[in-house]
Amino acid sequence: MTKQTVDNPFVPSGHDHARCILAALDAAEVACARRGERLTPLRRRVLELIWGGHRPVGAYDLLALLQDERGRVAPPTVYRTLDFLCGQGLVHRLESLQAFIGCGRTGDHMGGRGNGRHAAHFLICQDCGVAVEVRDGRLDGAISGLAGRAGFTITDETIELSGRCATCRN
Ligand SMILES: [Zn+2]
Ligand SMILES: [Zn+2]
Ligand SMILES: [Zn+2]
Repeated sequence: MTKQTVDNPFVPSGHDHARCILAALDAAEVACARRGERLTPLRRRVLELIWGGHRPVGAYDLLALLQDERGRVAPPTVYRTLDFLCGQGLVHRLESLQAFIGCGRTGDHMGGRGNGRHAAHFLICQDCGVAVEVRDGRLDGAISGLAGRAGFTITDETIELSGRCATCRN
């Protein structure tokens, strides 16, 4: 098998990134179909480009990639597409990097908050730039508990933890 790639140093052994992309695109098709939304060829392509690796991609980099493929692409087209993908919970925006990363948990959150947005917690390696979405029910419970006690309604929950992954540390 030559499919193994080093796209995700958090899981250096046996990570089949080609399969990872296909699974994400399939999950996106299913999620959109269930919500009566259309994953147009452009939306699908942008999602695929974001899934090129596990490193967050900036909007300008996406625009450049699309322009390479399609000639003239207007920036608002890219922003609208990113809005759609974020709104469907297929992509997350990482504020600390002003960049976008594919959601690897689309299937887990089908129930979600109606439109598919969901709480997202990331470990972001400052050295290799890889961001991995993680989940721990205890954290979810603690956050909803403290918001509840404060009478606070959370509308967007993205936690970004910066540091160094095991591969980079060694
Ligand atoms: Zn992957
Ligand atoms: Zn996610
Ligand atoms: Zn790293």
